[in-house]
Amino acid sequence: MFHDVNNPFSHLNIHIFSKSVCYNRPHLPESQGAKMIFKTIQEELKKLLPRLEYERYIEPLSFSESQSRSDLAVLESPNPYIASWVKTKYHAKLADLFEIHTGVRPSIHLQTRRNNGQKTPQSIDNLIKESRPTRSTLLNPSYTFESFVVGSSNQFAFTIAKAVAENPGKNYNPVFLYGGVGLGKTHLLQAIGNQLQNEGKVVIYSTIEQFINDFTYNLRNQTMDRFREKYRSCDLLMIDDVQFLSGKEETQKEFFHTFNELHAGGKQIVLTSDKSPKQIAGLEDRLKSRFVWGQVADIQPPGLETKIAIIKKKCEIDMIALEDEIISYIATHMDENIREIEGTLIKLNAYSKMMNQPITMEFTRDVLKEHIKEKRENITLDEIIDVVAKELNCKPSEIRSKSRVARIVNARRMVIYLARKLTPNSMPLIADYFGMKDHTAVSHAMRKINQIIESDANFKVILEELSNKITSRR
Ligand code: ADP
Ligand code: MG
Repeated sequence: MFHDVNNPFSHLNIHIFSKSVCYNRPHLPESQGAKMIFKTIQEELKKLLPRLEYERYIEPLSFSESQSRSDLAVLESPNPYIASWVKTKYHAKLADLFEIHTGVRPSIHLQTRRNNGQKTPQSIDNLIKESRPTRSTLLNPSYTFESFVVGSSNQFAFTIAKAVAENPGKNYNPVFLYGGVGLGKTHLLQAIGNQLQNEGKVVIYSTIEQFINDFTYNLRNQTMDRFREKYRSCDLLMIDDVQFLSGKEETQKEFFHTFNELHAGGKQIVLTSDKSPKQIAGLEDRLKSRFVWGQVADIQPPGLETKIAIIKKKCEIDMIALEDEIISYIATHMDENIREIEGTLIKLNAYSKMMNQPITMEFTRDVLKEHIKEKRENITLDEIIDVVAKELNCKPSEIRSKSRVARIVNARRMVIYLARKLTPNSMPLIADYFGMKDHTAVSHAMRKINQIIESDANFKVILEELSNKITSRR
C-alpha cells in the first residue's frame, strides 16, 4: 500500500476490533480516564486548528474506551471520509497530544461509528472500496491561495495554479505539478479546487489510489458507467500523486480515455506527482506525452527565507507565538519538508500550553533534538539503498550485489557512508547486510569515501543532498 501522508485513502492501516477481542484485552491503568484526556485533547486542538477544520474533523470524533489501551487509542468518526482524513492529517498530532498527557505514545486507530446495530465494515479500506463513489469531493478548506506562501522555489507553480483557477480549461491544460514530499503540491492543487468549488463548479479531487480503487470496484461490479459519470462529468478533475499509476496498465488505459474526454470537452485537468512525467517509470508513452501537453511546473525545496515566511504564516494561522530567533532556528535546523515543520510547530505549541510556559530557545532545541533522533532511528538500510539507487540511476539489487563495476562500487560506498551517518547500524551489521567478510571491508569503504570527500567538494554536496533526501522521507 502506498505511503503518502497526504493521501486520504492511503496506508489506512486501520483496525476494527470485534467486541469479543477487545473485551479480552488487558486495559492498562493509564487508559483510565482516557475519555477525559481525549476531551482535553479536543479542546487543545480547538485552539490549534482553524475553526472550520476543527468543526469538520475533530469535533465529531469520539473516544472508544472499550477498545483503547494505553498504547492504542481507538477513535470513532461518523463516516469513513472523516476517519481517513483524520488518520492521514492528524494522527501524528493526536499521538503527540496523547503522549504529552499520558507519557505513552499510542497508535491511533480510526473507525466508523456503528449505526443502530448496523454491521460494522471490516475495515475502512474495504469500506471505501465497497462504497459507491459519490460526486462529493473532500477538500481541505485551509488549503487556499491565501494561506500559501510564495517564494522563488514555488513561484512558477503558484502562478500557473492561480491562472488555472481564474480561467479553467482555457490556457493551460493539463497542468502537471511535481516536486518532493511536503513541498505544497496538494495544497496548491486543492487551492484551485477550493476556489472553483466556491464558484459553484463541479470539482473532483481524487488521489490516484482512490481512482484505482474506484476503477477496480466498478470494473468488478460491471458499473463502469457510474465510474465514468463520476470522473468525466466535472469542470475540474484533480488527481494527486499520479506517479502511482506506474505499472497499472488497465487503469492507465481508463485514465487515458478519461483524460481525452475531459480535455476534448475543454474541462480542466490538474495532476501532481513526485516526479516529472518523463521520470515516471512504467507509464505509457501516450500518457506521458499528454501530461506535457499543457504546462508542467515543478516545486523546488524552499530556500531559507521562504521557509521562514512559511513558519511565520503557520504561526499566524494557528496563533502560535514564536520569537524570530526561534523561527530561524527551526528553519535552519529542519529539512525542507513543510509538513514536518508544521508538525514541530504544533508540538512546540502543545508542549508550551501543557507546561504553561513560553516557547523558549532551549525548549525548541530539545524538541528538535528529539525529532532528529526519532528520524534517525527510523531510517533503514533499505531506504538508503532505494534513495541512492534512484538518484544515481542504478538498481537497488545492483547495490546489494557483489558487482565491481565502478559506478556500482561508488553507489555502494555512498550507502555505507550514509548508513553509518544516519542509522545506528554498527560496522559488523552493515558488513553482514552486504555479505562482506567482516567489518574491515566497511571501514575500508568509509576511509575511501572520506578521502574522496576531502578531495572533491562536489562529491560532498552530493552526499549532503542524498542525506537530506533520506532524512526528509517519511
Ligand atoms: P505535498 O503534497 O507536496 O507532499 P502538501 O501540499 O501536503 O505537500 O504540503 C504539506 C504541508 O505543508 C501542508 O500542510 C501545506 O499547507 C504546507 N505547505 C507546503 N508548502 C507551503 C507553502 N508554500 N505555504 C504554506 N504552506 C505550505
Ligand atoms: Mg501531496
